[in-house]
Amino acid sequence: MSPAQQIARRRTLAIISHPDAGKTTLTEKFLLYGNAIHLAGSVKDRKAARATTSDWMEIEKQRGISISSTVLQFEYAGCAVNLLDTPGHKDFSEDTYRVLTAVDAALMVIDAAKGVEAQTRKLFEVCRRRGVPIFTFINKCDRPTRDPLELLDELETVLGIQASPVNWPLGNGPTFRGVYDRLDAQLHLFERVAGGGAYKAPVKVASIEDDAIRAQLDAHSLAAATEQLAMLDGAGHAFDLAQVHAGAQSPVYFGSAINNFGVELLLRGFLRDSVPPAPRRSVSRHVPGLPAPTSAAEVPVTHERFSGFVFKIQANMDPKHRDRIAFVRVCSGRFTRDMTVTHQRTGKTVRLSSSHKLFGQERETVDEAWPGDIIGLVGHGEFGIGDTLTEDRSIFYDEIPRFPSEVFAYLSSASPAEAKKYRAGLAQLLQEGVVQSFHVRNAPSDTTLIAAVGTLQFEVVQHRLRAEYKADSRLSPAPWTLLRWIEPHPRLADLSSIVVASGVSFGHDKFEQPIVLFPNEWTLNYFEEKNPELKLHALPLEQ
Ligand code: GDP
Repeated sequence: MSPAQQIARRRTLAIISHPDAGKTTLTEKFLLYGNAIHLAGSVKDRKAARATTSDWMEIEKQRGISISSTVLQFEYAGCAVNLLDTPGHKDFSEDTYRVLTAVDAALMVIDAAKGVEAQTRKLFEVCRRRGVPIFTFINKCDRPTRDPLELLDELETVLGIQASPVNWPLGNGPTFRGVYDRLDAQLHLFERVAGGGAYKAPVKVASIEDDAIRAQLDAHSLAAATEQLAMLDGAGHAFDLAQVHAGAQSPVYFGSAINNFGVELLLRGFLRDSVPPAPRRSVSRHVPGLPAPTSAAEVPVTHERFSGFVFKIQANMDPKHRDRIAFVRVCSGRFTRDMTVTHQRTGKTVRLSSSHKLFGQERETVDEAWPGDIIGLVGHGEFGIGDTLTEDRSIFYDEIPRFPSEVFAYLSSASPAEAKKYRAGLAQLLQEGVVQSFHVRNAPSDTTLIAAVGTLQFEVVQHRLRAEYKADSRLSPAPWTLLRWIEPHPRLADLSSIVVASGVSFGHDKFEQPIVLFPNEWTLNYFEEKNPELKLHALPLEQ
């Protein structure tokens, strides 16, 4: 297969959803259809029973949530699918957000009884900002659902995306029998089989005009679906592939993941209408060792030289090995094991020998990878999130956005005897981006102010300090909920001249950029009102 063909058949996606909508179940069913696992249920069993790649830490086991992301690769209908799992817990958003930078499309799972939920909305926003195609699966149609037309309306009004149903449910809850495919005008009737969804569900495909089939459906469901379909034909958005690719229209599928209903239609439709790896933009940067800054340009996926960026770092996934894996999204060229690339942030040359593909707990050595693929590089303590690895020194990616912190706390070593291990551990976790740290004036001595999108990240820090560095730590509350960067201004030379409400503090980030911390929205508004010349930003200014 030529490189162009290898790239064209790749699909790299993440499933996004609110917890409990059915992401894990759908993932498991995709693997079943991709023949990656023979009996669906193994992902789930592992989720419940013991630590695996996607549930590798004690905290996850205790809470039954998945904190770290897994990359699953399988083949289906000639496509090589890279499925990136995203942690679903609301507290763990930053990691989830970063994973979304590595995908070319997203699949949004919605609980048909609940509609668009809070976490779905946040994740959707991140995908929309990137402009990637977003497909929708309305799950749990085997249970009483909300009116499907109302659900479509909610997608449009709450998320602001055109919703174009590719298929339409026949029946609702106990009477859910199948879907009508609007593109090929066929009915797909599902059969419930014994085995709790462990096997692929048989499907009968027929024309809607087929009387024998119509006789099998209950008259009420058929009448309701016919009426709704007529409304959609008249007033709905026609399917428009260009709009889908632009991220402006979401193709909508209905089904029930647990029963395997509609899963294959979704997978096929997604692979057909989604996009192969898209080119990434290289930014203009001064790269160590190069005489002049690199220039900004789009890097074609077919560019001959290898390039990719680190979007996630996961340490000590396997307690037996105590190692560290940097996940890299390949953006151009061909990755081969043992190749030599430049780590652009430091300008150093590194040999990529320990490359892996991960599948659950299993690791498989990767000898070759193409744009769209995700590889896990073991070791390499010098790699940080966002770093570019490449054979072409003019390429420098800047793909990882930052997200405003919303929770703050002081962290300190719990025992002087462990202080050294504590410091080494914290430095590593900060480099991985598990949390961010800031310097604040008048902080309690020997503490570090840490900040995150959700409090679970703090627990992860404490847990990992203990488990991996044998250092107990103490967390104490810090009173802020908002952080802003301040644009440089002469008045910052004398902070006492700045009028602030009580509880507001000044500090700086690790690049010495000035920041200001606010206990609440009101104190922020007051600051802006009293100091209009000081410009505040929710995210750091360009370094
Ligand atoms: P996640 O938190 O989004 O990964 O959701 P899970 O896949 O863990 O599913 C949450 C719950 O919904 C589990 O108890 C599933 O068995 C159940 N579930 C998933 N899909 C369906 C479905 O199609 N129908 C019904 N009735 N339940 C489902």
